[in-house]
Amino acid sequence: MNSSTPIDLVILGSGMAGLAAAQLAAANGLRAAVFDKGRRIGGRVSTRRADGFTFNHGAQFLTARHPDFVNSCEDAVAAGALRPWQVSGRDAFCGAPTMRDFPSFLGDGIEITQGAEISRIESHDGLVAFHDDTGLVATARQAVITAPAPQARRLLADAAPELATTAASATYAPCWTAMFGFDADALPEHAAPIHEKSGPVGWGVWEAHRPGAAAQDGAALTVQAAPDWSEEHLEQDQAPVAEAMLAAWQVASGTALGRPRHMAAHRWRYARVITAADADAPRISASGRIALAGDWLAGARVEDAWLSGRMAIERLAAVAA
Ligand SMILES: Cc1cc2nc3c(=O)[nH]c(=O)nc-3n(C[C@H](O)[C@H](O)[C@H](O)COP(=O)(O)OP(=O)(O)OC[C@H]3O[C@@H](n4cnc5c(N)ncnc54)[C@H](O)[C@@H]3O)c2cc1C
Repeated sequence: MNSSTPIDLVILGSGMAGLAAAQLAAANGLRAAVFDKGRRIGGRVSTRRADGFTFNHGAQFLTARHPDFVNSCEDAVAAGALRPWQVSGRDAFCGAPTMRDFPSFLGDGIEITQGAEISRIESHDGLVAFHDDTGLVATARQAVITAPAPQARRLLADAAPELATTAASATYAPCWTAMFGFDADALPEHAAPIHEKSGPVGWGVWEAHRPGAAAQDGAALTVQAAPDWSEEHLEQDQAPVAEAMLAAWQVASGTALGRPRHMAAHRWRYARVITAADADAPRISASGRIALAGDWLAGARVEDAWLSGRMAIERLAAVAA
């Protein structure tokens, strides 16, 4: 792509909001390009491989209520990228064989550049320009920004200060996620996920017990701390956090585990939306060229993010018409 030749739409972020926006834009006949700073597609719907183990260390499952999202999930089930999962009293879905397979399915056929961190956005002369630290990356007639609110606020401070103000009204809880890899004999035959509202074990699941999980040589365990504990331990180092969460898991599950072959922790600073953006605050810039999307506009879940991406395209289309 020639970065100075304008395309119809640039989407910042290849998470659920960005992918939903890109899919609808393509269906509307627009030329859209997605840029994301992460190494892989999916944003917070993510999967990590380490030492031969596979961990789903972001979103754990998703639910679908809106008919459009239900249809999208049913397509993904038919393609084998999602599996129904009755979990924690909910009719949910999980990615198959990993959570990231769902965003990968949604991103099929979309022009996506990973590893592209946008550091500056400009809006003038009827165009929106995206820059990284080395220069101009892309130019478009319209744009959708799906970064988490604190990052969107910084990026839009000059190009659309009214949207930066919208972003300032959303708040998040962090989440510490710990990942443990054991020899295969550590895997219990049956064990439902543990789900608690507070403490170091807010959620935990043996990866092999997810529907559609691929076989692993060893036993991979993912544990996520609840918001209160994550906030309290946010600035601690990874190693003591992982140790504390492993000890807590053994108490919560009533099992004694040996030393893991693999142990790591990931700090999600902006994990779950606590306060969504003010309902009355603008979602589209005064110029009509930049629209916001992201879970933080409506809720805290994968479905909220997906719906917000489609809504952003509808808002931009209404202005362009
Ligand atoms: C630990 C955890 C557990 C969760 N559990 C669940 C769950 O069980 N069920 C559920 O429904 N939801 C869950 N969620 C929430 C769910 O993951 C999110 O609501 C959803 O994935 C948000 O999608 P999004 O597209 O709005 O944002 P993101 O997925 O955060 O996507 C934003 C993208 O923007 C990119 N980006 C940011 N800044 C820049 C930049 N400057 N340049 C380029 N790219 C940039 C990021 O790399 C990212 O990929 C969980 C989240 C976490 C972290």
